[in-house]
Amino acid sequence: MEATLQAEVVAGHPYEERPKTKPIIQLEHIHKVYHTGDFEVHALRGITFTAHEGEFIAIMGASGSGKSTMMNIIGCLDRPTKGRYLLDGVDVSKLSKDQLADIRNRRVGFVFQGFNLLSRTSALENVELPMLYAGIPTAERLKRAREALAAVGLADREKNHPNQLSGGQQQRVAIARALVNRPAIILADEPTGNLDSRTSVEVMEIFQRLNEERNLTIVLVTHEHDIAQYAKRVVVFKDGRIKRDYLVADRRDARTELEQMPPITDDEEEEEEL
Ligand code: ADP
Ligand code: MG
Repeated sequence: MEATLQAEVVAGHPYEERPKTKPIIQLEHIHKVYHTGDFEVHALRGITFTAHEGEFIAIMGASGSGKSTMMNIIGCLDRPTKGRYLLDGVDVSKLSKDQLADIRNRRVGFVFQGFNLLSRTSALENVELPMLYAGIPTAERLKRAREALAAVGLADREKNHPNQLSGGQQQRVAIARALVNRPAIILADEPTGNLDSRTSVEVMEIFQRLNEERNLTIVLVTHEHDIAQYAKRVVVFKDGRIKRDYLVADRRDARTELEQMPPITDDEEEEEEL
């Protein structure tokens, strides 16, 4: 399994050789211990890791190795038990709950495996929601939500509710929602876990484009080698520690792959996925 991992995805240079830009995520000796009843789970055992602006990182590793725990800490949804975390130079371990929520809302966009959309609410309203919390005025909210939906190719679906959209379209709405507060970082935990292979490529095309055009830093958890290969760098977790950190040698280009696939119509897409 380990040998396969290395052979299939991480055949590139060790990460250190890459030219560095501004550090945006800095984890220093991070530990996380969960207390459940009588016993403790040591989910992270000393993670030291830096992501620079504009990186596109795939996090891999067996189930239970601490990937989601780390994403929750990076996203300020949870705090480390021990260690220091700097987000864009700010030591978040020292912030209050309110300050944490504020920095999360402004700096980080989340995309989850299960989409997490509100079901009785249109695509447009789902995308507007984070801006409501951020106190952005109505007209600006509407403008930005429409722009974000257009950026993910869903300008014509703004009135649809999630159950009127395919899985891939729902995930694109979730990506649009993650973008509207203009975050510096996108965190995606198994974003293609519920999608078929073509739709996964479509979602990866959006991530690659956002990474290139907007210099967004993307950290994406996946257990699929195919998906990790769209990233620039792969970090492999094992038992709460980082085991490998490599550049992707043969990076896949989602746009080129989509161009080479036979076209499907919107109707077909809906039949397949609904
Ligand atoms: P992964 O995302 O790599 O599958 P997780 O970060 O979810 O791994 O979990 C790491 C370890 O921490 C696992 O042993 C898991 O059972 C445990 N864990 C995760 N979240 C909690 C929690 N809220 N309470 C107790 N244990 C947890
Ligand atoms: Mg997980």
